[in-house]
Amino acid sequence: MTSVPNVTLNNGVTMPQLGFGVFQVPDEETTAAVASALEAGYRSIDTAAIYGNERGVGKALAASGIPREELFVTTKLWNEDQGYDRASAAFDASLDKLGLDHVDLYLVHWPAPDRDLYVQTYKALEKILADGRARAIGVSNFQVSHLRRLMEHTGITPAVNQVELHPGLQQKALRAFHAEHGIATEAWSPLAQGAVLDDQAIVGVAEAHGVTPAQVVLRWHLQSGNIVIPKSVTPARIRQNLDVFGFRLTDADMTAVAGLDRDLRTGPDPDTFN
Ligand code: NDP
Repeated sequence: MTSVPNVTLNNGVTMPQLGFGVFQVPDEETTAAVASALEAGYRSIDTAAIYGNERGVGKALAASGIPREELFVTTKLWNEDQGYDRASAAFDASLDKLGLDHVDLYLVHWPAPDRDLYVQTYKALEKILADGRARAIGVSNFQVSHLRRLMEHTGITPAVNQVELHPGLQQKALRAFHAEHGIATEAWSPLAQGAVLDDQAIVGVAEAHGVTPAQVVLRWHLQSGNIVIPKSVTPARIRQNLDVFGFRLTDADMTAVAGLDRDLRTGPDPDTFN
């Protein structure tokens, strides 16, 4: 079975560099998708309260029989639940739906700057971490300005910032900030929801290696040091997206993909999404 390398987070916890995302998968289909991913060899699953499928994830985890310590489960706090008390209650609800006594990573889903609550919210996550109910805490969709403010007013540097990141949106300044502060970069929509898979540069590299465009993009992420969580409900693609450890992109391939950066956002703008 494929062995996925681990990334060591800034608190020493290790996280698989490649996991499985379940955004937009209905709860009733999630159990089958996650079961298929676990069977293929994925051990890291990325969900969120707003996806409405934490129960489906939990059912697949329980049915798999895989020891809890071999799994890495991430979920996220939704914007409406920001604020210290609401965040604490929302975390309890997520754990309950997942059927777990702890998660491996708990993230503030968006900074939601107009709400102006992310600092208090993160303090609730620090308590959850201290209580051992999350092994690591972090954020998602935080820009440099949000990270700076959070780090000025709280005690624990986020272990992870999960952001939209793919060849069309390479987030160079944010990644440099992460590197400077020991924050792991996790890429959501790593395939740009398919929008970069027809790019000629990617297709050309894929043909040269005898792999698919999606595999080239995932390899580019891995060789760039990103954590990735591709989503698929198609068993053959689920397996294909994990089968990316048998080849390596050359420097020229990496440069070709680097040339595709073009401010292509498939999701909301974190500065205005609330
Ligand atoms: P991805 O970039 O992972 O793309 C998923 C799409 O690509 C689906 O339509 C899937 O189709 C298709 N696909 C998957 N594998 C292949 C392949 N090998 N060849 C061709 N097409 C393929 O998009 P997501 O937006 O789902 O992002 C991944 C994960 O990131 C999410 O599931 C979620 O966990 C996380 N995320 C986090 C966000 C945040 O705000 N923190 C926001 C958005 C996502 P099909 O399923 O039909 O096979």
